[in-house]
Amino acid sequence: MKDWKEKIKQLAKLLKNANNVVAFTGAGISTESGIPDYRGTGGVWKRYQPVYFDEFVASHDSRCEYWRRKKELYESFTQGKPNKAHLALAELERKGKLEMLITQNIDGLHYDAGNKKVIELHGTNRQVYCLDCLKRYPSEEIFPLLFEGVDVPQCKECGGWLKPATISFGQAMPVEETEQATEFSRRCNLFIAIGSSLSVQPASLMPLYAKQSGAKLAIINFTETQYDSQADIIIREKAGLVLSRLVEEFSSL
Ligand code: NAD
Ligand code: ZN
Repeated sequence: MKDWKEKIKQLAKLLKNANNVVAFTGAGISTESGIPDYRGTGGVWKRYQPVYFDEFVASHDSRCEYWRRKKELYESFTQGKPNKAHLALAELERKGKLEMLITQNIDGLHYDAGNKKVIELHGTNRQVYCLDCLKRYPSEEIFPLLFEGVDVPQCKECGGWLKPATISFGQAMPVEETEQATEFSRRCNLFIAIGSSLSVQPASLMPLYAKQSGAKLAIINFTETQYDSQADIIIREKAGLVLSRLVEEFSSL
C-alpha cells in the first residue's frame, strides 16, 4: 500500500488535471474544530439515539429532549473555528479550483473559512424556524432562552414550536439543495469526500453519482466507507493534515 504522502501527491496531480472538482464534507472535517461527529470514536451516537422529526412534532417530551441536546452542544458550535481542513478548501476555491462544496455539516464553518460556493444539504444550526409559520430567527436570538430555563422555545409571532433549521432524521430533504448537489456531483470529474462515514442517504449517494458519471473518487476519512472499493484514492489520515498538504503540493505543481 502506498504511503499517505505519496497518495497526496497523486491526488494533487488529479486536482491539477481536473477541470470540475467537487468537495463533499461530513462531520469528520469539524472534529479538529472541537465539534464531535456522530459515528467517529467520540461520536454523539455513541451516547444518544437520534430524535426523529415525527417524534419532535408529536411529543413534547421529544421536543424537550431534542432541545436539551442542542443546548449541550451549543458551546462547541459557537466556539468552533475553521481548522486547517476548512481553510484549505477555502484556498482551493480562491484558486478557482473548486466548482462546488457540498456539505452535510450544519456548523457553518465553511462560510467562516471563506468558501462562498457551498451547498448545505442538511440545513444550518445558525438559524431556527417556526414549524407553523416558518418564520426564521438567528440562533443567537433563541438559544439564550434555553439557558434562562425555557425547555422548548416558541415563535414570537404565532406561538408555534421552534426547531433549529437542520434536517432531522425522517424530515424531508431540502429540494433545491438536493437537486443542485446531485447535478454538481454528476457533472464533476473529481469528487473528494472528506470526513464522512458516507452512510446517511441521500447525501451519501453523491459520490456514487460522481463515479457513475466517470469522475475520479478520492476519500479522506479515518474509517472505512461503503464506497472504498470504488475509490481511486483513499487516505486515512487527519483531514486538516491531508488537505493542507494537498494545497501545498498542488501549488508546487
Ligand atoms: P459521521 O459522524 O457519520 O462520520 C464522520 C466520519 O469522519 C467518521 O467516519 C470518522 O471516522 C471520520 N473522522 C472524524 N474526524 C476525522 C478527521 N479529523 N479526519 C478524517 N476523518 C475523520 O458524519 P457524516 O457522514 O457527516 O454524517 C453525520 C450527519 O451528522 C450529517 O448529516 C451531519 O449533518 C450531522 N453532523 C454535523 C456536524 C457538524 O456540522 N459539524 C456534527 C455532527 C453531526
Ligand atoms: Zn410562527
